[in-house]
Amino acid sequence: MKRIAIEEAFVTRSVMAEWHRLHQSGVMEDGFRLMANTILADTPGNAPLHARLLDVGPGRLAQMDRDGIDMAVLSLTSPGVQVFNADLATTLAAEANDELAAAVRAQPQRLAGLAAVAPQDPERAAREIERARRSLGLVGVIINSHTQGEYLDLDKFQPLLTTAEYEDMPIYLHPREPGPGLLDPYKDYGLYFATWGFAVETSLHAMRLIMSGTFDRFPKLKVILGHMGEGIPFWLQRIDNRYQLQVRIGAVKKLKRLPSEYFLENFVITTAGVTSGPALRLALDVLGADRVMFAADFPYEDAAEAVRFLNEADMDDATRAKLFQHNATALFGLAG
Ligand code: MN
Repeated sequence: MKRIAIEEAFVTRSVMAEWHRLHQSGVMEDGFRLMANTILADTPGNAPLHARLLDVGPGRLAQMDRDGIDMAVLSLTSPGVQVFNADLATTLAAEANDELAAAVRAQPQRLAGLAAVAPQDPERAAREIERARRSLGLVGVIINSHTQGEYLDLDKFQPLLTTAEYEDMPIYLHPREPGPGLLDPYKDYGLYFATWGFAVETSLHAMRLIMSGTFDRFPKLKVILGHMGEGIPFWLQRIDNRYQLQVRIGAVKKLKRLPSEYFLENFVITTAGVTSGPALRLALDVLGADRVMFAADFPYEDAAEAVRFLNEADMDDATRAKLFQHNATALFGLAG
């Protein structure tokens, strides 16, 4: 059995430099300011984290060896290019994808990659997805939740979703801090961060996709959620129940299917950042063994601990092999 980890972060020097330039300009989204002041800041405390993010070469592979990870599916770390203007973001995404593709070509047995795109320009994002698939050999798309307060259910993003569906490129809907319409109450106590705000933001995004009927328009679109599904598996019965009430009283439009049916058909989830036995058991109960996949969330999390957790989790070996390997190889079309 191979262990394939699928929410593994990297950053390019140019994206890092442009984050700093944006931060120094003083004109940016409030949410990005919080991130740039803390985890993205160029401080001695962050130096080891940033060094690990920048390394997609021998250091990364040596760390994967130590952690027991055979293959990492890399993606440009949050918030990626989504905080920049459309032209800069589009250029930086293409550069990042070229660098990622080069790293993958150098180590095709150990690395695969998800393409960064700039949803700020949906048409060019669509062409970048096509290029990433056909020319670069990347196997999916990473989108860090909202783009300047906008969510992918909006009509303007249809070119991006059309191409992702057509090219069979799953979209990893990755967290970032809550969007501008949500952010104020999350500014206190560090709640904007991965303690809570990330899951609120990302689950909201997923729920907007479901409740807008996006999957009626794009029935083959695949979305990946990390962090054991960002809480949605826990709520699924209640979501259906209250959606049906809203339909009965005429408060929402009836979708072709129940919310849970889209979740169980169009979504897969990963273990990224979660080492809770009860959370894993709930995810497996709700989604089944074919829709839960291993991820470590390196370098933000301890990948060795993530491996140990799933190695020791109470399940049969066939289930464990699905989570560590077979679900990922099937979803991304990876060899072996
Ligand atoms: Mn992550």
